Amino acid sequence: MTLWAGIEAGGTKFVCVLGKGPENIIAETTIETRSPKETLSDVIGFFKNQQEQFGPVKAIGIGTFGPVDLDPDSPTHGYITTTPKQDWTHTNLVGMLKKEFHVPVGIDTDVNAAALAENLWGAAIGLDTFIYLTIGTGIGGGGMINGKLVHGLLHPEMGHILIPHNKVDDPFPGICPFHGDCLEGLACGPAIEKRWGVNPNELPPEHRAWELEARYLAMGLVNYICTLSPQRIIMGGGVMQQQQLFSLIRKNVSALLNSYLNLPAILYHIDDYIIPPELSKKAGVLGALALAMEASKDKVINP
Ligand code: ADP
Ligand code: ZN
Repeated sequence: MTLWAGIEAGGTKFVCVLGKGPENIIAETTIETRSPKETLSDVIGFFKNQQEQFGPVKAIGIGTFGPVDLDPDSPTHGYITTTPKQDWTHTNLVGMLKKEFHVPVGIDTDVNAAALAENLWGAAIGLDTFIYLTIGTGIGGGGMINGKLVHGLLHPEMGHILIPHNKVDDPFPGICPFHGDCLEGLACGPAIEKRWGVNPNELPPEHRAWELEARYLAMGLVNYICTLSPQRIIMGGGVMQQQQLFSLIRKNVSALLNSYLNLPAILYHIDDYIIPPELSKKAGVLGALALAMEASKDKVINP
């Protein structure tokens, strides 16, 4: 059976898997993110070792933090571009792996990769327009529109949308280095931590923080619903471990839409419309595996 390599490249860790399919993962490792050279030499070492034991991989897939150049015609395709993680700026992720393994390398954002996995094997099977959001160290979003992973000018940066911020209710200025109080600046994990002065996983479920968090996230969702018309919204990431957020978000989305979208999915089945990932924490790395499978078809994914 064909072997694939998947890499979920994150700001704190790289998760690497070798597998024959989503339910047939042969080896997995987690590598702490340091400089590109140190991190990638560990990644390459892991796959080389595995290849000695199990044979060559047919292709490699990467779901990465960004921003990343995904334009197949660009000379810097597969490069990390202007990331706040400065030593990663202009890192040629795809090129470094191609040089070592001489196989096709597919790349997309971490959230598009997770969306692809959910579409193939999880909560978005059979859907052609949906979004996948992660609420963690940052806020990111990706997904499919009409059956294609969404790209465009670069790729969506759904965390950086601007939403109403009532500074009387919530004087916290936000933490986005670029925008201050964009959605990510107000509602990512580190923003919750800074606003309330405690780690968000220590805030009790009934704390006022969660109602405020749900309101901000719901504002984001209403914007995505009105612009992209997703058939489903999948919400993952560390902050969404707070299960009570789902019902609070659904309630706020309904209230904000105010019966404008008169649709059964929103009016009667919102519990099935705004949901956690079915592949839970594995969505990202399984998505990377799926990107490897697509890359081996020798075509650019969703150009
Ligand atoms: P990353 O975004 O780096 O991939 P995560 O999705 O795990 O990682 O997000 C990390 C963020 O989520 C941190 O800000 C952390 O405080 C927050 N977080 C992690 N677990 C929980 C939890 N159980 N409840 C609330 N917040 C959490
Ligand atoms: Zn921002």
